[in-house]
Amino acid sequence: MIFLGPVCFMEVSQREALLRQIEEEIRRCTRCRLHTGRTHAVPGEGRPDALVMFIGEAPGYYEDKQGRPFVGAAGRYLNSLLQKSGLRREDVFITNIVKCRPPNNRDPLPDEIRACSPFLDRQIEIVNPRVIVTLGRFALHHFFPGASISRVHGQPRWLGERLFFPMFHPAAGLYQPKWQPALEEDFRKLGELIRSLTTQEGVTTEEE
Ligand code: SF4
Repeated sequence: MIFLGPVCFMEVSQREALLRQIEEEIRRCTRCRLHTGRTHAVPGEGRPDALVMFIGEAPGYYEDKQGRPFVGAAGRYLNSLLQKSGLRREDVFITNIVKCRPPNNRDPLPDEIRACSPFLDRQIEIVNPRVIVTLGRFALHHFFPGASISRVHGQPRWLGERLFFPMFHPAAGLYQPKWQPALEEDFRKLGELIRSLTTQEGVTTEEE
């Protein structure tokens, strides 16, 4: 039997209000240098009580323009992967490790990740997802420092009360087609896992 940990009983409206508060803080944030180049901060979006949270790396060009996560080419690929897995984008929560676009889409730097991660930690606490899907190595390393994404992708593992599901970043599949079969297979496995959790097959919660 899988132990899912404590269930958050916070009302959806309360979660929404707390998430809005974090969004406002992010839009005003100047904690790291990335605020100087942003058009819009990208706090994240989705169901306030989502079962699954996807965490990517950082906003790109189109995300910065629109203030929404995964709306460019990688976002369209993510949408198609979600569809294939049987998940609906409106049912999940999607965010990034850093909320402002790094210049020229460079990798986020360690001090930027450190400055921004308290926002992510609070979003996780409020949404309280049972499953966290890390997209790419930066999200993976936030929870599992030093893990090799090519070794652990597609292998769910528990950390505390949550099930973590590491995956390649959709941009990796988009720009290097050799990664597409692995991404598609991992999303298929994720879909199966979520169906299993939602039908409570082999799953128990603290109050059962
Ligand atoms: Fe603040 Fe995060 Fe944006 Fe840096 S990336 S300015 S810490 S919201």
